[in-house]
Amino acid sequence: MGGMSEQSTGAPAPSVFSRIVAREIPADIVHETETLVAFRDISPQAPVHLLVVPKTERYRDVVELAAGDPALLAEIVATAGQLSRSADAFGDHAGGEFRLVFNTGPSAGQTVFHVHAHVLGGPLEEGTLAH
Ligand code: 5GP
Repeated sequence: MGGMSEQSTGAPAPSVFSRIVAREIPADIVHETETLVAFRDISPQAPVHLLVVPKTERYRDVVELAAGDPALLAEIVATAGQLSRSADAFGDHAGGEFRLVFNTGPSAGQTVFHVHAHVLGGPLEEGTLAH
């Protein structure tokens, strides 16, 4: 018997981010390529708070991604750099500076197990990485 997170086929249900990629859930998408998508976090923690998400949900977290597809990880980092220089994505804060966060595991605050980078921008205080 499958749990709530499984469909009748036994396959895991698509992640919330796969549903955004499929346009089943609306999101403010700021950038998209064949391999990844970037959109605004629904609950922003900084003046600019984007998520950069590979379209594949094969990798749960950044450690799995680095081992399985390092080029895709590099693409996420490069995309964060591009977005941080884009007025469309970063508005007045488009100066090429940002904080990149990959929560890895529940005790580190990860809630969606489809790897994603948080790209944070705007004036960020020093010394506030963790609360
Ligand atoms: P995590 O806690 O796993 O590192 O990050 C998951 C992030 O996804 C959270 O910051 C949360 O606000 C964001 N999020 C969860 N569901 C949605 C959604 O449906 N749309 C958008 N835009 N962001 C979401």
